[in-house]
Amino acid sequence: MTQTHLGTAMITGASSGIGAVYADRLARRGYDLLLVARNRKRLMTLASSITTDTRRNVEILDADLGDGVALANVEAKLRQDASITLLVNNAGIGTHTPLVDSDVDAMSRMIDLNVTALMRLTYAAVPGFLSRGKGAVINISSIVALAPEMLNGVYGGSKAFVLAFTQSLHHELAGKGIHVQAVLPGATATDFWQTGGLPLESLDKSIVMSAGNMVDAALVGFDRGELVTIPSLQDVARWEDFADARRAMSNLLSTNTPAPRYAASR
Ligand code: NAP
Repeated sequence: MTQTHLGTAMITGASSGIGAVYADRLARRGYDLLLVARNRKRLMTLASSITTDTRRNVEILDADLGDGVALANVEAKLRQDASITLLVNNAGIGTHTPLVDSDVDAMSRMIDLNVTALMRLTYAAVPGFLSRGKGAVINISSIVALAPEMLNGVYGGSKAFVLAFTQSLHHELAGKGIHVQAVLPGATATDFWQTGGLPLESLDKSIVMSAGNMVDAALVGFDRGELVTIPSLQDVARWEDFADARRAMSNLLSTNTPAPRYAASR
C-alpha cells in the first residue's frame, strides 16, 4: 500500500484504549508516531506491532504527565521537533465517585492530567504549528462536558474545560492553517472504567461503543474539519441547535444594567 508521509503524530495516553487505537489508525494513514504514557512495556509492545504492520517510525516517550518535570520534557520535545504535525491530547483519567466520597488530592491529580497537561502540551505545540503554517490538535473531551451530572463533577468539569479550551483555540487560530478538534466520546469500552472504579460490565451494553468504532468515527469528523465531534450522537441537529443557541446568547451576556428580574424588591 502506498502511503503519504504526514509528519509525526504525538499521542498521549497511547499505551491502551482510545490512544492505542489512534496510534494504529494514524500510522496506517502515514504518520510516524511519538507515543506517550507511563507504562513503557505496553508502549514498546504497541510500537513494535505498529512498526511491523505499517513500517512507520514509532518512538516512545515514557512520562507521567501528572509530574511537572516529566511533563516539561514532553513539552520540550514538542517545541524542538519540527516533524510533529499532529498532537492528540488523549491521556486522561476519570471516576464516578461523588464529592463526599472522593479524595481531594486524587481530584487535584485528575485536574493535573486532564486539564493542566493537556493545556501545557497545546501551548508547547501550537507556536511551532503557527510558524510552519500547519498542524492539528485533537483534544479528547467527553460527553460529560455537556452532561456533567453523569459522572464525577471534577471529571465533568475537566472535560468541559477541554471543550471550551478547544472552542476558544479554534476561534483564535481561525484562518492560520491549524485544525483543532474536540472529540466527545460517550461510554467507550476501555480500561478507563475499571481504573475509575466502575466495571464496564455494570453499564448497559447499548450505550457502550468499541474504541475502534469511536476512533474511526472521530477521524471521519477530523477529515471533515469538524471542530466538535460526538460519535454517539445520532441526530446532529441536536448539537447544532445547542451550539446555535449558545452562540445567539453569547452577545447578550454582558450589559451595564442588571436584568429587571434582579431588581431588589422594596
Ligand atoms: P484508558 O484505556 O484507561 O487510557 C488512558 C491512557 O492515559 C492510558 O494510556 C494511560 O497510560 C494514560 N495515562 C493515565 N495516567 C497518565 C499519566 N499520569 N501520565 C501519562 N499518561 C497517563 O482509557 P481511555 O478510555 O482510552 O481514555 C482515553 C481518554 O478518553 C481519556 O481522556 C478519557 O477521559 C477519555 N474518554 C473516555 C471515555 C470512555 O468511556 N472510555 C469516554 C469519554 C472520554 P499509562 O497508565 O501507561 O500511563
